Amino acid sequence: MATVTFQGVTRRFPGATRNAVDNLDLEINDGEFLVLVGPSGCGKTTTLRMLAGLDPIDSGTVLIGDRDVTDVAPKDRDIAMVFQNYALYPHLSVEQNMGFGLRTRKTPKAEIHERVLEAAKLLDLEPLLHRHPAELSGGQRQRVAMGRAIVREPQVFLMDEPLSNLDAKLRVQTRTQIASLQRRLGTTTVYVTHDQTEAMTMGDRIAVLDQGRLQQLGTPQELYDRPVNEFVARFIGSPAMSVWDARITEGALCLSDADTFRLPAELLASIGEREVRVGIRAEDLRLAGEGEPGIELKVALVEELGSDGYLYGDARLGDKDLDFVARVDGRNHPVPGDVVRVIPDLARLHVFDAATG
Ligand code: ADP
Ligand code: MG
Repeated sequence: MATVTFQGVTRRFPGATRNAVDNLDLEINDGEFLVLVGPSGCGKTTTLRMLAGLDPIDSGTVLIGDRDVTDVAPKDRDIAMVFQNYALYPHLSVEQNMGFGLRTRKTPKAEIHERVLEAAKLLDLEPLLHRHPAELSGGQRQRVAMGRAIVREPQVFLMDEPLSNLDAKLRVQTRTQIASLQRRLGTTTVYVTHDQTEAMTMGDRIAVLDQGRLQQLGTPQELYDRPVNEFVARFIGSPAMSVWDARITEGALCLSDADTFRLPAELLASIGEREVRVGIRAEDLRLAGEGEPGIELKVALVEELGSDGYLYGDARLGDKDLDFVARVDGRNHPVPGDVVRVIPDLARLHVFDAATG
């Protein structure tokens, strides 16, 4: 097992106008399950490939444990990678596929057999050891790819969207299996996904990337409760969030020239008086009860998701029209055209810089 450290790591592809990965500083703990998450093209795969030694680094340093591996060949880095397409050899059996990495390292036959059997037990692959990849389901292939990584007993697992070829139901099952397997083995893991639910459910910590830059590193709860910017706030947790321009002055939040909201003192102290963007998650806006004051809005649309739903509406506040999204009960909710009152939980307001958004 080992830590993984990126120090100022930058990669620009030839001819590109910006860095695919830009000055990445990231320290991954020994035994940690670290999820790298972000939208397509943000630099996740490039980051993983640089750690694996498959892509060159333009500047910066990569360490595995205390060892600087920046110039070390991929096969000497003591890592095992699980690719999105599994990259199994079609002409080899499951057993041969799983043992392949050990055979190229000239591990004794008996030891290969033993380690493959052990991994096969962990992954419920024993009955399939003599099959070929073409005779396996997508989920079984995925497990073989995992098994091949496990038998190597590497210091670090690297996984690049390993669930993206599975259907939705299997994806949910498999993500629980991978997470619990990793906890059992205790091997430091860097797991890449564009799926925020995978990130939230699997990661000890999550690193959010956008346009090659690390936006925030933290536990799932930290990212949900205290996103550092609008990008992270919208990417992590429910994407349904109302975000408005606002001004903070004299202890109050002004959304327009007419309406102000008293802010909790501790929130104010940390912000000071300035122009900001403020966001509130749909689940932190509730419908007002009978006779209770609130912000009046006209319901434009309700998206039903079964047990709950999202209500979209707009409110005229002084000189401004503001869009709102609130989470509502899926069975019993207002309908388009209704006028309702909503109450924001001001303690759960997120305040972002106006300039950088
Ligand atoms: P992600 O895995 O997050 O989707 P990538 O790391 O694959 O993102 O890509 C990051 C950026 O680098 C993207 O802008 C992508 O177009 C670019 N890129 C990736 N691979 C290459 C390549 N081989 N040649 C040129 N540009 C590339
Ligand atoms: Mg990728």
